[in-house]
Amino acid sequence: MSDGRHPLPAIGLLLERAGVRALSADAPRSLVAEAARRAVADVRDGRVPTPDDEAEWDARVATALHQLQRPSLRPVFNGTGVVLHTNLARAPLAAAAIQAITRTAAGACNLEYDVDAGRRGSRYVHCVALLRELTGAEDAIVVNNCAAALVLALNTWCRDREAVISRGELVEIGGSFRVPEIMARSGAVLREVGTTNRTHPDDYRAALSALTGALVKVHRSNFAMSGFVAEASLRDLVPIAAAQGVPLLYDFGSGLMMDLSRFGLSGEAVARDAVRDGATLTMMSGDKLLGGPQAGILLGSAGAIAACRDNPLCRALRVDKLTLAALEATLALYRDPERALRDIPALTMLTAPHASVRGRAESLAESLRAIGVRCTVVDTEATVGGGAFPTARIPSAALALDGDAAALDAALRASDVPVIGRIADGRLLIDLRSVPASFDTALHGALGRALSGTAVRS
Ligand SMILES: *Cc1c(COP(=O)(O)O)cnc(C)c1O
Repeated sequence: MSDGRHPLPAIGLLLERAGVRALSADAPRSLVAEAARRAVADVRDGRVPTPDDEAEWDARVATALHQLQRPSLRPVFNGTGVVLHTNLARAPLAAAAIQAITRTAAGACNLEYDVDAGRRGSRYVHCVALLRELTGAEDAIVVNNCAAALVLALNTWCRDREAVISRGELVEIGGSFRVPEIMARSGAVLREVGTTNRTHPDDYRAALSALTGALVKVHRSNFAMSGFVAEASLRDLVPIAAAQGVPLLYDFGSGLMMDLSRFGLSGEAVARDAVRDGATLTMMSGDKLLGGPQAGILLGSAGAIAACRDNPLCRALRVDKLTLAALEATLALYRDPERALRDIPALTMLTAPHASVRGRAESLAESLRAIGVRCTVVDTEATVGGGAFPTARIPSAALALDGDAAALDAALRASDVPVIGRIADGRLLIDLRSVPASFDTALHGALGRALSGTAVRS
């Protein structure tokens, strides 16, 4: 139903209009027709007011077409202040990693081909030399993500056998990753020991039997426990596993490759230390503190890695060439730690001095005010995200936009490159620590376009 003033146009007539016909130059006619149907339906169902004239109908169809053609997966600005935001794809990649993807994507590559020998090779050789060099591990294998790494390790040693794990480590990491459920699906029989707050080495010893497949330790990445707590360290568990002749599997998570304590981020182990502490297998993510692509990395003894590689399940969890290209390029940056800090965006964002983040916010605010956007700069606290350094608060700065926070939030999410902020104390904040500095100009453009001409302008 129309509002009575303007009858709704017939789709056929709308498609005949010159302004609408012109859209077919860049889109199939069927898609233009669908856009026209949507434009009419939006008016009929009362989602938008009736256009005032025919030119506005053309514009509505063009907008509907733009939305239909827009990719489902697209970039956003992460203004949440959570640097490794799992919903926003965690770590942005380093320029070197992006170049490696581009170089590898276009044509054939030696993914499973040994160029020197002139015969079939293995995809699992890539990245291994770098991982050995950087972590001290004897061998390594890369799979799809850390969850897959844990599934592979458990399935290799604990299928129908007991995985001994502390009750304090049966944690949930992100929406769909619960350690007990992953363990059960891997075929492991869960053998819980200790209590939620305290588990001692003797608790593990008491649980050992002929049914034991492995000892499992999971890093409690995303929360901290304090008070009356005790846990058996990795070093406590190494001799216990060895005496029983079973592997010690360590889900380490973060993938931190270098010490960041001089930047106020302390308390997380570095991969090299985790490996040195002696777990049979150490597992970590590629896209958390490592700052690379989504991947799961298993580090361990040659025998343990070979057993994983020989597990038929490995084929189902295998990593693709673009991931390997990006991971190799990211790892290579760690050969020079200063370069890693400079070139790996996750590290750059986490370690930038507060003054530089604040300075970026000030200059953005100034140039936004110059085009009529009312905003101020406020100091905030950013977090690491990605289930790492759960208690760390990093001094940060944000643009605070004046006006109805929910309406502003909706306007920014509707922009071509959506700007995702957070609402605090009734104000919409765009935290700059989670935005790479190289995006400031683009962010300014997006904010200016989204906020110009509305009530938020002064
Ligand atoms: C994040 C995390 C995982 C899951 O890693 P993905 O790469 O997202 O699969 C598993 N274990 C620990 C300890 C983690 O921190």
